[in-house]
Amino acid sequence: MERIFGRPIVTQEQMRARIRELGKQITTDYAGMDCVLVGVLKGAYAFYADLARAIRIPIRVDFLMVTSEGSQTKSSGKVKTVKMVTELTEDIKGKDVLLVEDIVDSGLTAQYLVKTLAKKKPRSIKVCTLLSKPERRVINVTIDYVGFKIPNKYVVGYGLDYQQKYRNLPYLAVLDMEGDQE
Ligand code: 5GP
Repeated sequence: MERIFGRPIVTQEQMRARIRELGKQITTDYAGMDCVLVGVLKGAYAFYADLARAIRIPIRVDFLMVTSEGSQTKSSGKVKTVKMVTELTEDIKGKDVLLVEDIVDSGLTAQYLVKTLAKKKPRSIKVCTLLSKPERRVINVTIDYVGFKIPNKYVVGYGLDYQQKYRNLPYLAVLDMEGDQE
């Protein structure tokens, strides 16, 4: 598996260090608040587990699953339809929601989830993503915490898949269909 994907673009050590920093920041920012950490499955599972344990205040945990399917072609390009396929188990009314995503690409998933969760009247809602591809953004969505900004390449590992595989790769690598020659 490691040979196929060649060298990591974000190593395990870099991941650990950055997640520790994010955890510290979130611990400070959410001190005294009633934080519900909402993970977006499946992609965020690895990041979520590490981030939650890097946060040093008591938090609630919950998860959502979304589908982003049926790309519709509009004159302006392709528009994804994002749907929430599972509901939260926690009541987030009056609580401080921190949405945890694997990657913000076009921004449509994050925007949809923030809008949908806002209807449940949390006290606050912020977004934390392990990865962001700023070049790919089609809408303006506020991302409060970003692990790494990455270029416009398809990446796998650390929770992110290619055809449902490679989520368990312990680092982040660029998907190379041709195989890595180095
Ligand atoms: P957005 O709604 O921001 O366009 O897309 C977010 C979703 O697109 C992510 O949750 C992920 O499923 C998928 N995605 C975007 N870029 C990548 C990538 O480089 N690798 C993988 N594995 N998934 C990606």
